[in-house]
Amino acid sequence: MHDDRFHDHCGVVGLYGAAEELGRARRASDAAGSRAARLAYLGLYALQHRGQESAGIVSSDGLDLYAGKGMGLVEEVFSAEVLARLVGDAAIGHTRYSTAGDTSLTNAQPIVIDCNKGKLALAHNGNLTNAAEWRRKLEHRGSIFQTTSDTEVIVHLIARSAARNLSGAIGDALNQVEGAYSLVLLTREELYAIRDPRGFRPLALGKLGGTWIVASETCAFDLLGAEYVREVEPGEMVRISRAGVESIRFAPPKPHQYCIFEHVYFARPDSLVFGRPVNQSREQLGRLLAEEHPADADIVVPVPDSGVPAAIGYAHESHIPFCMGLIRNHYIGRTFIEPVQDIRDFGVRLKLNPVRGLLEGKRVVLVDDSIVRGTTSRKIVRMVREAGAREVHMRISCPPTVSPCYYGIDTPTREELIAAVKTVEGIREFLGADSLGYLSLASLRRAVEDTEKRFCTSCYTGVYPTELVQLEVARQQTEPRAAVVTREG
Ligand code: SF4
Repeated sequence: MHDDRFHDHCGVVGLYGAAEELGRARRASDAAGSRAARLAYLGLYALQHRGQESAGIVSSDGLDLYAGKGMGLVEEVFSAEVLARLVGDAAIGHTRYSTAGDTSLTNAQPIVIDCNKGKLALAHNGNLTNAAEWRRKLEHRGSIFQTTSDTEVIVHLIARSAARNLSGAIGDALNQVEGAYSLVLLTREELYAIRDPRGFRPLALGKLGGTWIVASETCAFDLLGAEYVREVEPGEMVRISRAGVESIRFAPPKPHQYCIFEHVYFARPDSLVFGRPVNQSREQLGRLLAEEHPADADIVVPVPDSGVPAAIGYAHESHIPFCMGLIRNHYIGRTFIEPVQDIRDFGVRLKLNPVRGLLEGKRVVLVDDSIVRGTTSRKIVRMVREAGAREVHMRISCPPTVSPCYYGIDTPTREELIAAVKTVEGIREFLGADSLGYLSLASLRRAVEDTEKRFCTSCYTGVYPTELVQLEVARQQTEPRAAVVTREG
């Protein structure tokens, strides 16, 4: 069952120099793996929102790499026994959201290979836009792929590089692929943290005492008690080894394309993403939304959890009281049984419940961060009305999503995106709301202080910064029934 939300594909984490602290007595709980494995586990725990289908950690003790992977949530995959096998003072980890029909353990990361460049493990957040083409070429030349993930293309290209050292081979490989990648790569002796030249997906560098840490979001540093040092820059490869930290530019600079939707919805509000506090962006989105789309209303109600900061901003700006008129159940599992077939909107009711006493007789501004297909939003509007709201004014803290993402976010096809096929008035009618207002693109850029156009906004414009995708999208628009671009991993 899809849940009518956008999903990020992955979160990554990496640790280097996480030796056990000298003189520190090991607690009983420490029986579960080395310090690096335990820190990677906790880092992944903090990044769980970026992917819930599979999780993996690979560690290194300087002699070999040790892998533990499985399907499910981080806490389900890593038992004490699994963690105990992950020895050494360096580790990388990955948590993955997989697309429909692609929920196999084979595609769980990190990918580990033993090639002519030595043994290495790779974990990837993002999506390569020319992976299918490379895969065909490499298979033609005799490469045998173990997964259907686009990430494996990078590994094969590294193995085939004629460069004399690993950083050169990685650079060679990455200069042949297109698209979005924030990578952590572990060898027996080194950790690499790498971001594509456009910087689509985030990757931050932190430090905990003598341990270097990289993570998709800084909320992982907070859980570990680590300090934020800086972003891994677009087009930068950070190599961490016994010799220290080295910054290598592996590609010519390209115009930056930070994913703006990380600030709208994906990232945790307590994270710094692209060096900017997410919560600050979201509140500002809400303030600007109130400026652009005021409503004559009694209360502002967020669609929890992700709509909360924007609703707070909306309430501040409009001086309309903020109310938690919908409560989210945080404890739903991934499978459930419908007790009675005819309970209307059971799936949504399982997640959200209206507070009748707050909503009854009120004119409600309902704030959410996005509308995908519109089916869930329609059910929520109906739920708020059935709880007694007199009017429902839907406000969305970003522009209409009119085009799919090809850079690491799982989105439906263009035809399934309601904003691609209906006008705003058509969407309002479909939702059954009294009014509907989306934030403008200009205000979205303003909310993240994007004065230099460093953010990607392609899912709102249908204009893509990478050539292959732009060509494919243009072709689809002239031939609407043509096959879509293959998106893997
Ligand atoms: S297309 Fe949208 S979701 Fe994808 S990277 Fe660009 S802004 Fe982010």
